[in-house]
Amino acid sequence: PPVPDAEALQHGDVAALLPRPDAESDKYRRGVVGVVAGSARYPGAAVLAVAGALRGGAGAVRYVGPAAEAVITRFPETLVHSGPPHKAGRVQAWVVGPGLGDDAAARQSLDDVLASDVPVLVDADGLRLLPPGDLRSRTAATILTPHAGEAAALLGVPREEVEQTRLASVRALAERYGATVLLKGSTTLVCSGPGPVRVNPTGTGWLATAGSGDVLSGLTGSLLASGLSPHDAASTGAYLHGLAARHATAPTGAPIAAYDVATALPEVWRDVL
Ligand code: AMP
Ligand code: MG
Repeated sequence: PPVPDAEALQHGDVAALLPRPDAESDKYRRGVVGVVAGSARYPGAAVLAVAGALRGGAGAVRYVGPAAEAVITRFPETLVHSGPPHKAGRVQAWVVGPGLGDDAAARQSLDDVLASDVPVLVDADGLRLLPPGDLRSRTAATILTPHAGEAAALLGVPREEVEQTRLASVRALAERYGATVLLKGSTTLVCSGPGPVRVNPTGTGWLATAGSGDVLSGLTGSLLASGLSPHDAASTGAYLHGLAARHATAPTGAPIAAYDVATALPEVWRDVL
């Protein structure tokens, strides 16, 4: 039979993919996710990415960057480090980019995690700083999580073109970079190469709020550190993120802030498991 162009992830698929700790689990085996985010100008992006990462299944979150004070004050369970990422200790997956800025230090941090041998999720400012060329020479997988504007910049086309050709655009980006691409929007798409694109059905317009993408990147990186494949981590992350927003806004459909999405995640896991 022909391969479908797109497929929706079902509730049961997500339930089967979610990590479940057992008697053998310890925090390191459950996975450590490293978050490289935030700047003097945007410390909040670091807090939101860590908030998502803390509720994505990994056993520990390491934060590396200039917003350590803000992060540790809000989340005492975070391990913080102020040197370069490669000196921070072992991680199973990195998230890099939310609120990172675009100065030399930001670029250095991005290059540092891309040189690692573990999966990396690149979002937001990290996407603007991506080196030329593709990511196929990395020894582990890469996930890119652009919204339409970021995708347009990566492809060198107008934003309207991405919005009008979302399926073709996510495929073109995955091919261009040799990466898994999660194209955000009212219907989020995930593509890792030829084969069906995963379409996320759980979004809500209330997610169109500042910082919600930062929560998604932390959450998805945490799933990646837990051992999910890049394709599964990205599509499961989008699924849980949308459900969490719906949960936070229920039952009346009231406005939510990005942090509310993160705090609704445990309830959503209970519903899905
Ligand atoms: P960002 O643009 O990085 O802040 O990310 C915004 C998040 O909100 C992404 O997860 C989008 O998929 C989601 N989002 C934005 N607008 C909508 C919408 N109209 N309907 C559903 N989800 C949306
Ligand atoms: Mg964003």
